[in-house]
Amino acid sequence: MRLTTKRKQILDLLQNTKAPMSATTLSECLPDMDLVTIYRNLDLFTQEGLVKRLQFDDEALYEFQETPHHHAICENCQKMIHFSVPEKQLKKLIVLEGFDINSIDITVKGNCVHEAS
Ligand SMILES: [Zn+2]
Repeated sequence: MRLTTKRKQILDLLQNTKAPMSATTLSECLPDMDLVTIYRNLDLFTQEGLVKRLQFDDEALYEFQETPHHHAICENCQKMIHFSVPEKQLKKLIVLEGFDINSIDITVKGNCVHEAS
């Protein structure tokens, strides 16, 4: 893949923003780029494994993951927690006869627990 100026702009933005972003948010930050270009490049990055595509309800978010990890989302405040679990242990838990697991993505939904003061 050739790293054109446009591609670099999108990648840099994803890398510098610590949170996953939707294509719409990206296009708001990159007003010179049209949405089609952004989508096309996001697809390319996903295929190349540079960026992870996360599907949350009806929204797709794109995240630059330095290390592979999973997500927990609070259904009240939408806060997102990034966490990792040893992949070996996960694979042991999921028993699928005649199936080789390549990757596992976990999205946990719940609520933030606020300590009573
Ligand atoms: Zn994350």
